[in-house]
Amino acid sequence: MSPRLVLAALLILAIPAARAALNPAEEKIVAAVKAQAGEFNRDLETAVQINSATENLAGVRQLADLHGAQLAALGLTYRFVALPAATGRAGHLVAEHKGTKGKRVLLIGHLDTVLPGGNFRRDGDKALGSGTSDIKGGNLIIIYALRALHAAGALADTQIIVMMTGDEEAVGRPVEVARAELFAAAQRSDLALAFEGAIAHTGTVARRGSASWEIEVQGATGHSSGIFSTAMGAGSVYEAARIVTGFYTELRQLDGLTLNPALIVGGTEVSLDRTGGKTEGKTNITAQRTLIRGDLRTTSAEQLADAQAKIRAIVANNLPRTSATITFSEGYPAMPDSPANRALLAQLDQASRDLGFPAITAYDPRSRGAGDIAFVSPPLPALDGLGIRGGGAHAPTEWADLKTVPELVERTALLIYRLTR
Ligand SMILES: [Zn+2]
Repeated sequence: MSPRLVLAALLILAIPAARAALNPAEEKIVAAVKAQAGEFNRDLETAVQINSATENLAGVRQLADLHGAQLAALGLTYRFVALPAATGRAGHLVAEHKGTKGKRVLLIGHLDTVLPGGNFRRDGDKALGSGTSDIKGGNLIIIYALRALHAAGALADTQIIVMMTGDEEAVGRPVEVARAELFAAAQRSDLALAFEGAIAHTGTVARRGSASWEIEVQGATGHSSGIFSTAMGAGSVYEAARIVTGFYTELRQLDGLTLNPALIVGGTEVSLDRTGGKTEGKTNITAQRTLIRGDLRTTSAEQLADAQAKIRAIVANNLPRTSATITFSEGYPAMPDSPANRALLAQLDQASRDLGFPAITAYDPRSRGAGDIAFVSPPLPALDGLGIRGGGAHAPTEWADLKTVPELVERTALLIYRLTR
């Protein structure tokens, strides 16, 4: 046998049965993932110890520069795209590897957290602290997958953009400004993968969009004994009750949609903001004004438009001597389920099984909340939920499962490799 054939025969013998589906280049990538596995936990601790809550602009920048340097070491060009001060947001990490091979891939993470960081701790295979699973572990899965590809010589001539936004948890306004760089990255890409937390062995092919809304109801006021009369009419509280009952009756029917009235205040003098309100009144006075705030979650732009039309019709159908107006605020778009997204999921599933890991199925498309990936899908085929496994996002009990990291990095590296051939 020629030395090359001997080598090939040895390689075949060395590959366990479950790995028979991998070619030698892919085996090299898996070996590179294994070689760097020991460093992940320390890198996660470093990232979590940086307080990068959305409003901590210096912390967001510090984390961007940390990951920017890690990506620059792999041959990507890193720049920090600062947002205008008026948005109250720091900006984004954008790192790009230029090439012409295979599909152009956009990898999405984010730098910010809801709660401040700096509280990393370990409990066996669990890493605890703000941002462990949402999303600092996911950001590191991107970096570790690219590092393995780089070590295996598989990054050459690939077109890959890594985008980590600094305001995923509370997007800056106006959204066209805060997401301009993400839109531009999407235009240079063929597909997007996002690294929000993995949920068991599923991938996210759809995310619901969300928008908040506020209703202001006005009624006539005077002595309570006049309510129901032609002169006094129904008062603002009955009108508000009619509206929310109408929502419950008519909007509850729409598949995948939720409409949540979260706060309500009624009386003679009322005020309401995002987190609370005040009211004054007396039992013998008809309530003049009622305010309601809530959110609306939908599976597609079409469902959002349909729901808004139904909501407006309900709000406009006023009881005697009352009036009501509704204002929707700019929110997150939906990422609708699509055959292109399902095709990406099938590729992740194949990669997972080829590595000897479990099959990957679609997470219930109606269950997942809003996320940055929805800004680019449509138009791009996209898949989310490629991040770290864990739980307790946005809560002090947030944690990540360190045991499954090698599996998650291997499947991500293999998926990116196959997409970029
Ligand atoms: Zn997140």
